[in-house]
Amino acid sequence: MCFGVRDAIALALEHADVGPLTILGDLVHNPTVLSALEAKGIAVAQDVPDVRTPTLMVTAHGTSERNLARTRALGLTVVEATCPLVHVAHRAVAALARDGYHVVIIGQRNHVEVRGLTGDLDRFDVVLEDDDVLALDEHPRLGVAAQTTQPVEKVRRLVSLIRRRFPQSEVRFIDTVCKPTKQRQSAAIEMASQADVVIVVGGRTSNNTHELVKTCARYCTRVHHVQTDADVRPEWFDGAEVVGLTAGTSTPDDVIDRVEARIRLRADATVDKFASARASLRR
Ligand code: SF4
Repeated sequence: MCFGVRDAIALALEHADVGPLTILGDLVHNPTVLSALEAKGIAVAQDVPDVRTPTLMVTAHGTSERNLARTRALGLTVVEATCPLVHVAHRAVAALARDGYHVVIIGQRNHVEVRGLTGDLDRFDVVLEDDDVLALDEHPRLGVAAQTTQPVEKVRRLVSLIRRRFPQSEVRFIDTVCKPTKQRQSAAIEMASQADVVIVVGGRTSNNTHELVKTCARYCTRVHHVQTDADVRPEWFDGAEVVGLTAGTSTPDDVIDRVEARIRLRADATVDKFASARASLRR
């Protein structure tokens, strides 16, 4: 789990001990963590009008200044669990807009972090694929930043596409992909290149987990995404000698440990099966 998510969970638990708390949106896209928070009495609301407690918490994904002001104007106390690296991305976007660039964000249009990054802008574009770049209008100055969890290789590829598409424009790129995402992606590539099977642990709706699955699938043909150890199927490991294990940034260590234990159980069973097959051949 990255430090941003870990700190956000700790902050939520700390505030829940003081008084009733509602988290606005999913603090993390992980059902195991969410049920642990629910067990502490922490409510989750998708929209501000649904908040029933005097205090609400903004998730690690952050939000816009406009949204914060609107929320405070309703008399609600806001606790910000925004990751410092998301704040860095916000500052980068604000600087681009202030310096007269038309802002282009590389990310998922409806992702809460992207809505936060763009929420204070009057004009901007969001691109995720080549076709989105082809649909952009020309601007004399284009300022590009990215959602923190996008694969950096993809971001760089889209930036060069933007540069090629608008050779007359001044294109300024600020790399806002966070360090934990970059490290995870490069470690996953190294691991997937050596593995026969890769297991990626993380919530079904977690963007960075999906990106890890896609990255691993480029280097290994047998990649499986699981949420918990209960999803692990023994037949996935048939004939496999090396199994790779990785996880999205919001996956708790104990969930990963249980998945690892399940894989090791299967490996031990396979070794036992070979041992007994060898023994019966000798007989
Ligand atoms: S993925 Fe990166 S930006 Fe997002 S919470 Fe973790 S460290 Fe922060």
